[in-house]
Amino acid sequence: MQAVLLLGPGQLSYQDIPIPQPGADEIVLKIGAALTCGTDLKALLRGHPKMPPPTRFGHEYAGTIAARGARVTTVREGDEVMLVPTGPCGSCFYCQRQQENLCTSLMETYALGGYAEYLTIPARVIRTNLFPKPAGLPFAEAALLEPLSCVVFGLQQTTLRPDDTAVIIGAGAIGLLHLVVLRALGGERVYVIARNPQRAKTAQDLGAYGIIPRSAEEAREAVLDVTAGRGADLVIECTAQPRVWEEALFLARPGGQVILFGGCPSGTAASFDTYRLHYDQVRILSPFHFTPEAVRHAYELLTSGKIPANNLISDTYPLAQLTHAFDLLQRGEGIKYAVVP
Ligand SMILES: [Zn+2]
Ligand SMILES: [Zn+2]
Repeated sequence: MQAVLLLGPGQLSYQDIPIPQPGADEIVLKIGAALTCGTDLKALLRGHPKMPPPTRFGHEYAGTIAARGARVTTVREGDEVMLVPTGPCGSCFYCQRQQENLCTSLMETYALGGYAEYLTIPARVIRTNLFPKPAGLPFAEAALLEPLSCVVFGLQQTTLRPDDTAVIIGAGAIGLLHLVVLRALGGERVYVIARNPQRAKTAQDLGAYGIIPRSAEEAREAVLDVTAGRGADLVIECTAQPRVWEEALFLARPGGQVILFGGCPSGTAASFDTYRLHYDQVRILSPFHFTPEAVRHAYELLTSGKIPANNLISDTYPLAQLTHAFDLLQRGEGIKYAVVP
């Protein structure tokens, strides 16, 4: 079968490798579609701590069960499924406290390798984070379950009111996913800070209440203008830059909430205005990954048709053109690309 391997920064390799056989508690998934992700682009450009090379990669995918192990009883060959690539152990300190996103062995069974024809899925994913795919939902849209789970998990940490004003910093894939989830949850006043005109237009089409065409550093006044001088009830940082993390605090109202969503390079630091944290009681949240509860909620949103999933996928390419899809993403073109083996 064809599989794409990441050999090091900037180095992709298309290889012909054997089709895997499932262990007794595993399944082998025939990939229906995989989606590109900013994390994959980062891994390709400069490496990623969770993906040491050489490695298969691609962590947003959906497909059909091609083979199942002897002890797997919950699904059958031929079932079309959607899933996320990790599953918690269920028994460690964090799992017992419903903080499964921090499970100490979460990454040990990380099912990387969506950029291929087949992929083995471990027991822990099958047990917790694998669902039937409705027949009417295309594989590429079903593959949004993983990034949507991250977004839903972050928003679950907040208290939201329908009349809240939210400001999203950044109109890349993750910023736009926040936009569509907030809209699906009934949020009306969702502003997006986006300088790139093409991305701003996309945000508008996806239901943004308004666009603030500035850099994050220059957006403070515009945010105060649209919030009666208070600042936003909820600010969501989606750029993964320490300077923007710092600035995000200044866009929130007293008593407001800030989600610092974008993971910055390790070793970087950000400092915070103590007055804003204490006297203005701005609440900072920094969600990582997702829990099974968030995955279930994301599954319900995605399969209920409340998310305009099709509009988040800019184009579809065969696996052999994965490099081209990443080139487009690097140039800031498109949101997500579907890759079909
Ligand atoms: Zn991703
Ligand atoms: Zn655990």
